[in-house]
Amino acid sequence: MQTTKIINFLHRTCRIQHNARTIASISSLPETHQMLYKTCRDFAEAELKPIAAKTDREHRYPGDKIQKMGELGLMGITIPESLGGTGLDYLAYAIAMEEISRGCASAGVIMSVNNSLYLGPIEKFGNQEQKEKFITGFTDGKKVGCFALSEPGNGSDAGAASTTAKLDGSTYVINGTKSWITNGFESEAVVLFATTDKSKKHKGISAVIAPKPINGLSLGKKEDKLGIRGSSTCSLIFEDCVVPKENLLGQPGMGFKIAMMTLDAGRIGIASQALGIAQASLDCAMEYASKRTAFGNSILKLQAIQQKIADMALKLDSARLLTWRASYFKDNNKPYTKEAAMAKLAASEAATFCAHQCIQILGGMGYVTDMPAERHYRDARITEIYEGTSEIQRLVIAGNLIKEYGLN
Ligand SMILES: Cc1cc2nc3c(=O)[nH]c(=O)nc-3n(C[C@H](O)[C@H](O)[C@H](O)COP(=O)(O)OP(=O)(O)OC[C@H]3O[C@@H](n4cnc5c(N)ncnc54)[C@H](O)[C@@H]3O)c2cc1C
Repeated sequence: MQTTKIINFLHRTCRIQHNARTIASISSLPETHQMLYKTCRDFAEAELKPIAAKTDREHRYPGDKIQKMGELGLMGITIPESLGGTGLDYLAYAIAMEEISRGCASAGVIMSVNNSLYLGPIEKFGNQEQKEKFITGFTDGKKVGCFALSEPGNGSDAGAASTTAKLDGSTYVINGTKSWITNGFESEAVVLFATTDKSKKHKGISAVIAPKPINGLSLGKKEDKLGIRGSSTCSLIFEDCVVPKENLLGQPGMGFKIAMMTLDAGRIGIASQALGIAQASLDCAMEYASKRTAFGNSILKLQAIQQKIADMALKLDSARLLTWRASYFKDNNKPYTKEAAMAKLAASEAATFCAHQCIQILGGMGYVTDMPAERHYRDARITEIYEGTSEIQRLVIAGNLIKEYGLN
């Protein structure tokens, strides 16, 4: 497959900026995005869909596929070409993430964490030296990074981080445990959040880049998860782990801001992952319903089934428009915190709804691993939890609305 060539051609020939009027459907998108969509869809059909069940069953990291995604330019989509990235925009990232996740949600989260949680903050807040060291080499799928914010004692309340980074001459000494870290096993660097000044609470949190492996860092057990089982999730345990002071990202005390800004962008990625799972569920339900007969007729002719597929398509399309709107706002440097939270909330709820309905439409066949419906159902569930639970998204949306109404 001439993957590299396709992306290069696409990128060289079609640098057309989208505007608000062109983000209503795939066919109305700029040519760049339509070509990217087709490239990712074809790749997911040919390479990811056929291995998704095995990846899930065997909890197997799909390393060879991630490398191919790197060759396609999907592991550093928004990173400038000068740093080895593809130099496309966030709408392109959203479209690619959906198509990859439609084929395999595990590949989707591995891609999302590398793109938006690891490379994103280094590209935005890193100095040139950090970018050359920790971005170059992490865009081709051979190496991936991770993002370590959550701890055993605090997830939603990220400002309560208890991991410490103590300045000792020209180094930081890190102590503490980070939990639930996606790509924890395979990653070769981590964007890590730790307190450099406890008295300042969340304003005392700093972000540091640590290479992996590194002395003083051990990994916890690989979590046995409900879904996205091809991605690894584990704790990172820091015990007197020494990181050079020059690996500080931004200024001391900027960590919480970096984390929150990174998650705003990351939520567009997770929304897109959820869209991919929702679309895969709708595809599965449509195909099955068209072939299954009951009471002498195709079940697709039954109005009860038609109600379900209409509701699935409605939720999916609404969430996709919200996701593309959030990308459009980000690409055009407009504030997009509320829009990203709305997109993630709507898309994750669409994914769980569509996967649930897909099982219902398949009946007994929805409940067994011969069909992908039960995997979509398990994969969908995490999208309502990570990068901010649905409850937290509602708080973010409401907080922004209160500000917009001047009622704060
Ligand atoms: C598979 C997986 C992968 C992950 N990957 C990463 C990763 O790569 N990096 C990383 O840093 N973290 C990662 N996480 C952690 C994830 O982001 C957290 O699990 C999530 O933010 C929720 O935190 P928690 O689990 O501590 O739940 P808690 O914060 O304890 O929340 C428990 C419940 O209380 C609710 N709640 C909490 N506060 C409020 C509030 N103020 N108002 C209303 N309800 C509230 C929550 O919505 C939830 O329903 C991952 C988690 C999983 C399961």
